[in-house]
Amino acid sequence: MDRQQDDLDTRLRQRAQAVIPGGMWGHQHAQRLPEGYPQYFTRGEGCRTWDANGRAYIDYLCAWGPMILGYNDPDVEAAAARQRAMGDGLNGPTPLLVDLAELVVDTVPHADWALFSKNGTDATTACVTIARAGTGRRKVLVARGAYHGAIPWCSPSVAGVTEEDRAHLIIYDFNDIQSLEAAVEQAKGDLAAILVSAFKHDLGKEHRLPTREFAKRARELASAADAALIVDDVRAGFRLDMGGSWELVGVQPDLSAWSKAIANGRALAAVTGNDRFRQAATQIFTTGSFWTAGVSMAASIATITKLRDTNAVETMRVSGERLRAGLQAQADKYGLKLQQSGPVQMPVMLFENDDDRRIGNRFCLEALARGVYFHPTHTMFLSAAHTLPIIEETLQITDEVFRAVAGKVGAPAAADA
Ligand SMILES: *Cc1c(COP(=O)(O)O)cnc(C)c1O
Repeated sequence: MDRQQDDLDTRLRQRAQAVIPGGMWGHQHAQRLPEGYPQYFTRGEGCRTWDANGRAYIDYLCAWGPMILGYNDPDVEAAAARQRAMGDGLNGPTPLLVDLAELVVDTVPHADWALFSKNGTDATTACVTIARAGTGRRKVLVARGAYHGAIPWCSPSVAGVTEEDRAHLIIYDFNDIQSLEAAVEQAKGDLAAILVSAFKHDLGKEHRLPTREFAKRARELASAADAALIVDDVRAGFRLDMGGSWELVGVQPDLSAWSKAIANGRALAAVTGNDRFRQAATQIFTTGSFWTAGVSMAASIATITKLRDTNAVETMRVSGERLRAGLQAQADKYGLKLQQSGPVQMPVMLFENDDDRRIGNRFCLEALARGVYFHPTHTMFLSAAHTLPIIEETLQITDEVFRAVAGKVGAPAAADA
């Protein structure tokens, strides 16, 4: 991409340097963006986004997950607008709170109750706190490398974090029953919870669904210790199964954390739980100034209802299958060793023998230049707006992308070595 000095994205970055630490925080820090990627966006519609320089993309990041029905979905926005005309943050919740809780409890098999917050981090933290309150114990088992949010007990950075913040975490490896059993053993009589991701979706790594055996064993171990099994469904919730991602392996958690897609881009998170932890959820003090605001709840009711009534999970799955097969055929045709993993609705695309990401970054940059927004290392997302015609449009572009990449990164034979 040729970025001119006077383009809006560049000027915004320069202005941000003066008034925002490092120009940006967290995962959207310019240094963590793929090189050559725009940072600022102005608009989204359906499956497309427009960056600050006015370039349009078919978007396979979906706002990092929250967009699931399409940007600016008419039904969700109409519901939000109706509530906005009446009020958003008020002295107490709107009636929508009870409607939404009923809808969620009706949709999610393990849920006997739900409570709502704003961010996934709020929800994972509340799950851990409820588990400790309900068991009177301290130890929480977490998988190596798993992301559960951005506060000291779980942040990927150790800056500003004390040992004490993480004193009661014990690490196991996802899908590794022995390591999970060892971690339970290490917790002895002090096990509060086993925390698991919906599936293994660590940055820059192949994605893996839980095996049935692992999921079952996690359930057994938690039950045997009368501890909580917590599924962090913040990233995957409502993309793989409307009842929660572990429905796929037939295992019901005690507590689940939800956020990203539950209100199609509006700020909302949820904790769902069963009756075993209802009393504990009553005892903890969890709240926030914006947690009962009505507009995001109106958006969430419209989102969940539409996802369910249109069988959006199936739409995303069918489109995801087609995209995966199409990309694989193109990679084979051009002799590139593409490694696609994760559920098809939430793929990650890596290349073999590409530790320095030379091929992956080139692939994504070539796609970006032609109007397709992929990510070289993070989980990507399909939405219900990624219909089959959109997938075909994408594949026409990626054929050119693969050809360009094959021409630039050289002979596939080198990758065989
Ligand atoms: C994004 C994410 C979180 C944190 O959610 P925020 O809304 O960013 O606080 C937690 N867990 C998983 C699996 C996530 O993907």
